[in-house]
Amino acid sequence: MKTMEAVIGLEVHVQLATRTKIFCSCPNRFGDEPNTNICPTCLGLPGALPVLNRRAVQLAIKAALALEGEIAETMKFDRKNYFYPDLPKGYQISQFDRPLSSGGGITLSNGRRVGLKRIHLEEDAGKLLHTAESLDESRFTRVDLNRAGTPLIEIVTNPDIRTPEEAYEFLKTLKLTLEYCEVSDCNMEEGSLRCDANVSVRPEGSSELGVKIEIKNLNSFKAVQSALRFEIERQKRELRAGRTLVQETRLWDADRKMTRSMRGKEGSEDYRYFPDPDLVSFTVSREVIEEIEREIPELPRLRAARFVEEYGIPETDAGILTSTRALGDFFEEAVRSYPENPKGIANWITAELLREVPAEEMGKREVSPRHLATLVRLIDSRTITGKIAKKIFPEVVREGKDPEKLIEERGLKPISDSAAIEAFCREVIDANPGPVEEYRAGKTATFGWLVGQVMKASKGKADPRSVNEILRRLL
Ligand SMILES: [Zn+2]
Repeated sequence: MKTMEAVIGLEVHVQLATRTKIFCSCPNRFGDEPNTNICPTCLGLPGALPVLNRRAVQLAIKAALALEGEIAETMKFDRKNYFYPDLPKGYQISQFDRPLSSGGGITLSNGRRVGLKRIHLEEDAGKLLHTAESLDESRFTRVDLNRAGTPLIEIVTNPDIRTPEEAYEFLKTLKLTLEYCEVSDCNMEEGSLRCDANVSVRPEGSSELGVKIEIKNLNSFKAVQSALRFEIERQKRELRAGRTLVQETRLWDADRKMTRSMRGKEGSEDYRYFPDPDLVSFTVSREVIEEIEREIPELPRLRAARFVEEYGIPETDAGILTSTRALGDFFEEAVRSYPENPKGIANWITAELLREVPAEEMGKREVSPRHLATLVRLIDSRTITGKIAKKIFPEVVREGKDPEKLIEERGLKPISDSAAIEAFCREVIDANPGPVEEYRAGKTATFGWLVGQVMKASKGKADPRSVNEILRRLL
């Protein structure tokens, strides 16, 4: 039998970071008491009319432009009709035949391009709560409508992805791009970013598509990868055994690490889409689009390339430093405050700072880029040793203390007075006649050990370069 290849497409829903919902002025906020952020409009009560949130349209356009999409000249909204307990209106306001943007895409590190079919704007539904606090409650499912009417963009890719690893990289890059543009916080735990996958298999080289299976309930990028791996193998196995696949929706069961059938897949005709009579179509002018385009910051890949070029730092460090917008900003601010050694600053961030503060926490925590720059400057000017810098660093980070003040307070100023260093050297020479003899007999490696002893005797405060000179002279 011929080798089989997978054909994968993704549908990603992203909540937009607006202050209010898409068609009413209720707060768009996660974590509030259930059913407190609601009004007649997002509940779909008779007579309530939707008013489009301008900011939601702006953010959606910004996301589409950052992903190189073509913005539609006129926009309209449609009703997608279906019944579900989290949707009291009986329809979801979405965009059907004229999405906000079409085309665009993301190029992966292996050079393959994942094209986008479309990006459209829509409202979110409410949330069903199946968790129960008592046995009695477990007979019920509760509904929280706080999320109903939250602005979403749905990003639909072409079936250009071939492996679970490519799907993973696409999602990581997509998330990073949207975070950089401040379109969404992309928090998967809070449901700000959700992903469904479509997957089929076919003989390699074939241009026909196999039977498409949709996978839902993917709540992390790792889950997307695992579910796709499982599903591709399952489909190949079925076909090899001579069975036929049916188009369906399957759920990923993270505990059992498998997908299971949920329902037959409905076609778009089942939703009886029609234009929403309450919302008129409108156009967004060229000028407005250009204005939004100017708000798009330098995107991660370009920024990383510039870091390599401008500051001479290694590519891997540049990749780490641009892994969140806040971390890149932190690096550049530190460099502005001490431009003499960007490489040293990059090193301190990747090796020391990220051990204290994870990249995702940067921007939320009070770490001062100026303090980090000061620390690197103090090492460079040999005011302190690297060892002392590492020792005080956790305090600088956790308590936001100025390193210069801290050194003053602790009496950590290095000993550069050569008489004092000489005293330490003599002490070590006297205490270690054996190693000294070895060194004098030609075993040069012992020298490093002796330097170490002097540093230890000075509690790490002696300037290592002076120690080297003086010790060599004395020996
Ligand atoms: Zn509302």
